[in-house]
Amino acid sequence: MIFKSINPFSQEVIAEHEVLTNAQLNQKLQLSENAFKNWSKTSFQERADKMLKLANILRVNKEKFGLLITNEMGKIISESIAEVEKSAGNCDFYAEHAAEMLKDEYYDTSFKSMSVYDPMGAVFAIMPWNYPFWQVLRYAAPAIMAGNVTLLKHAPNVIGCAKAIESAFLEAGFPEGVFQEITIDIPQVESVIALNSVCGITLTGSELAGSSVAALAGKHIKKSVMELGGSDAFIVLNDADLEKAATVATQSRMLNAGQACICAKRFIVTEKVADEFAALFMQKVQLLQQGNPLQQGIQMGPLARLDLAEKLEAQLAKSLQQGAKLLVGGERENCNFQPTLIDFVDSNNVAFQEETFGPLATIIRAKDANDAVAIANNHRYGLAAAIWTEDRENAYQLSREIEAGNVFVNSLVRSDSRVPFGGIKKSGYGRELGAIGIKEFMNMKSLVIE
Ligand code: NAP
Repeated sequence: MIFKSINPFSQEVIAEHEVLTNAQLNQKLQLSENAFKNWSKTSFQERADKMLKLANILRVNKEKFGLLITNEMGKIISESIAEVEKSAGNCDFYAEHAAEMLKDEYYDTSFKSMSVYDPMGAVFAIMPWNYPFWQVLRYAAPAIMAGNVTLLKHAPNVIGCAKAIESAFLEAGFPEGVFQEITIDIPQVESVIALNSVCGITLTGSELAGSSVAALAGKHIKKSVMELGGSDAFIVLNDADLEKAATVATQSRMLNAGQACICAKRFIVTEKVADEFAALFMQKVQLLQQGNPLQQGIQMGPLARLDLAEKLEAQLAKSLQQGAKLLVGGERENCNFQPTLIDFVDSNNVAFQEETFGPLATIIRAKDANDAVAIANNHRYGLAAAIWTEDRENAYQLSREIEAGNVFVNSLVRSDSRVPFGGIKKSGYGRELGAIGIKEFMNMKSLVIE
């Protein structure tokens, strides 16, 4: 079986990757098990030296890796290069802080009582194509700094990125088997989850994939972290700085051609300022330059696959049938989907209820702040949200009422190596990043010495 890598802008097949046979897969799994025995015993210093080398390799090759990302999944080249730089920064961060994050913790008892953090084996990662470097380094840098090893099943359209990341790990001096890309198909997934040497599964992807993999993890009693879909609310209140809110709204929805879990998707605006906000938002969306993602000045490329563009087109058509009003955009040519804004969306509309993974922004009108929060919470997903208001005290109170794993006030929602990240409800469970993220696949061992 072959996975084809198709450039979504030119529609050319740029590479073909053979899926591993079961025998080839078993060899890699054995290598992973052997690698863990030695890697888990290395010092933080040794791991950090290699991780800093990896960061350097990513930076030195950021143009080359950026081009690979753009060719495989279509994001504009400046965003691809920025993604590689952010991934390098993540390697630096965990190289510098893993030892401190995983230090022994002592308790006040009559004996010497403590928690120690022991690595447990191979973290099996199932990753999506939308940030093909960042999503991988986001989980892999902390996991490997903690003394675990990892196996990566990447999305079939970004296998070139997966292979490039594996080569970068080897070039940085990590022993073979510490980071391995495994090109496998869905039916092979359970055999990896079932393996004794696999200590846990981290999946970033859709709700459907999460539900299926979480069930397998449960069957084999393996811990899992699920980073799933979202339909993030972007709440604009009467006293918001509307100009700034509209600028960030455009960025937050249209970044990566709208293909991010934490893209704002539902713009919930209080009635008093809704017309003014809609006009500003529309102006900014109209100015976006769409085209060849390799060309300077282009702000949005194609969607990553034709089926994704077709799905978004169907969601838009249904939303308009259900009463939404088209303000700008709405056309599609192959994978290129115009930046689109629709207004007068309500909670029965498909663009409200489903995750829209592309450049489609929806405005929903709310009576007041409390109504806006109620609308935001009236959803199966709970990944992130933003609130725009000049009243920071009120923003704090409202943010405590929002049902989401992350809330940002007057700011673009983004992930940061230092801050835990994750969702609630159907957006998943567990956390990546920060001191809590690095501990997800560790044995927190209680040790009492009398
Ligand atoms: P996807 O179709 O769920 O694919 C993600 C990964 O899961 C791919 O490697 C895919 O492999 C694999 N997969 C799918 N079904 C599976 C199954 N039954 N068993 C095992 N593996 C399976 O998602 P996507 O379209 O690539 O990515 C978009 C989704 O990811 C959106 O919902 C987005 O919100 C979410 N996401 C979430 C976060 C977060 O941090 N919360 C970040 C980024 C993206 P195949 O392609 O081979 O099926």
